[in-house]
Amino acid sequence: MNIGILGLGLIGGSLGFDLRSQGHHILGVSRRESTCEKAVALGSVDQASVELSLLAAAEVVFICTPLALIVPQFEQLIAHLPVTTVVTDVGSAKAEIVKAISPLWNNFIGGHPMAGTTDSGIEAAQRHLFVDKPYVLTPVTTTPTTAITVVESIVRSLGANIYHCQPEQHDYAVSWISHLPVMVSSSLIAACLSETDPDVLQLAQKLASSGFRDTSRVGGGNSELGVMMARYNRQALLRSLQQYRHHLDELTNLIEQKNWAVLEERLKSTHEARRDFVE
Ligand code: NAP
Repeated sequence: MNIGILGLGLIGGSLGFDLRSQGHHILGVSRRESTCEKAVALGSVDQASVELSLLAAAEVVFICTPLALIVPQFEQLIAHLPVTTVVTDVGSAKAEIVKAISPLWNNFIGGHPMAGTTDSGIEAAQRHLFVDKPYVLTPVTTTPTTAITVVESIVRSLGANIYHCQPEQHDYAVSWISHLPVMVSSSLIAACLSETDPDVLQLAQKLASSGFRDTSRVGGGNSELGVMMARYNRQALLRSLQQYRHHLDELTNLIEQKNWAVLEERLKSTHEARRDFVE
């Protein structure tokens, strides 16, 4: 199958590696000529160009640009595509994108692979990134079954686990487990930096080990992506942040009041609840 990828970065480049290794012919389009050359040299795509017209021959196109560019790039792309082309995107927020693209392109289905690293760009692309990871698809009532089936079979071939939901449900769910953690983790790093004694700060930086590595990872990631999450999932993220602040206040109160029994109960219950998210 001819598969097009628009935006050859971490996600687009990684998709290219896996789909190409399955024998698909991968057509890549990116903004910079140097990225196109690298993607071909690394083996992520068969052909690459800065011209959207390269994607005219693709049967399925994955739009993998930064979030803010998905709709504008799609609007330029459609002039080059036959109506039969199935288009999907990988954006981390879905409602606005699906609302904008669905009326313009019948064969469109929104998607979001729940996989990534803190790095970006074609150099960060890696093989098998999507194996055993959730991959959300957000068809709407007008999405043709054929478009759903084609994208599902490609996603399944990546080794990902497919979930279907409405775009709005997706945005609320990811605000809890993806977008809120970025803001919490960033605040954690910022709070540590507020230490006024330089010797203590330096010692803390030396002592930081696996626990801090885990809890600071997403806050120390791609800042552009973090801003996009906030811009494109603002309502849901604000709702999650308010709840988070409420729980932080409750913990602060318990510690101020030396209420160790209730604090222990709280920590026990979150210890048990964590399993439902990560196991
Ligand atoms: P990324 O590594 O920065 O890749 C995006 C690529 O898009 C850049 O390398 C850039 O390539 C290219 N690009 C920029 N402007 C373009 C344009 N006008 N036309 C064509 N290509 C353009 O970002 P990413 O992490 O792969 O994220 C891409 C999408 O995946 C985002 O929508 C994000 O929401 C979604 N996503 C990200 C993650 C994650 O953890 N990173 C996870 C799931 C989904 P050039 O070098 O050519 O400029």
